Amino acid sequence: MATKIGIDAGGTLTKIAYWDEKKQLHLLNFLSSNFKAVKDWIESNHSLASICLTGGRAEQLKKYLLSQNDIPYIVEFDATMAGVMYQLKQENIHCEKAIIANIGTGTSIHLMNGESHRRLGGTGIGGGTLIGLGQVLTGITSYEEMINLSKSGSREFIDILVSDIYESNKLPLNGSLTASNFGGVALKSTENKSHADYLSGLQGIIGEVVASLCIQAADAHNVNRVIYIGSTLENNDLLKKIIQSYTNLKEKEPIFLEKHGYSGAIGALLESI
Ligand code: ADP
Ligand code: MG
Repeated sequence: MATKIGIDAGGTLTKIAYWDEKKQLHLLNFLSSNFKAVKDWIESNHSLASICLTGGRAEQLKKYLLSQNDIPYIVEFDATMAGVMYQLKQENIHCEKAIIANIGTGTSIHLMNGESHRRLGGTGIGGGTLIGLGQVLTGITSYEEMINLSKSGSREFIDILVSDIYESNKLPLNGSLTASNFGGVALKSTENKSHADYLSGLQGIIGEVVASLCIQAADAHNVNRVIYIGSTLENNDLLKKIIQSYTNLKEKEPIFLEKHGYSGAIGALLESI
């Protein structure tokens, strides 16, 4: 039985965070296309709990729940920031100033400076791109299946590296940087590329686009650390590896929080009274 519940209704997933009677934190999610499952979950065991909502689909969920009581709402970015600060504390990470990238359906980029925060921008390249383009390239619709298969792929014949172009010429920049994501499909040997290779290359696009934007934002605001969150990192070690090495390469420190996708839900939970 939950006493307090935070719900982050996002474009793809509705994330739920709650405390039980023993103050133990629990996390779960449902597809946002299945509000019925969310409603059933609340009604089955937790109808007496106090709820706080956040996320782009919060209003839609509120209407769907048809609650007699008005359900409190917290602005998404405030909730996310509160959830990030809570997790930093839990994980004993001391971080005053950082860029925060929320890799959800799309990606939103923020500057955290002490208690305050501001949105800097974002990109439509995100988790939705992974499952959408991934489906076009392979026909696979399951997120788990897609990220598992991507792990066994190789980007060698998918991408073109700076070193592929410069070969033995003196390199003007790091040769291991990607010169062209997916350019190798058109320009490299006719070698057969597998679904795994395509998915691996796709993870490369997402990780490198997001990391590049964050690095530029970090440079512009004199920040050394980038905190990456969002459910696109859930069980997704390959994406984390890509982001980590790109961020390190540009001499910034990447931070991944344990409960990637749940910052918004945890932030809403902290607000529930
Ligand atoms: P939003 O808040 O926009 O819903 P999330 O942070 O929840 O975004 O991230 C959504 C992304 O997480 C999806 O686009 C997908 O890449 C990934 N993902 C993780 N788990 C799942 C899942 N079970 N089903 C679909 N997508 C998932
Ligand atoms: Mg979200």
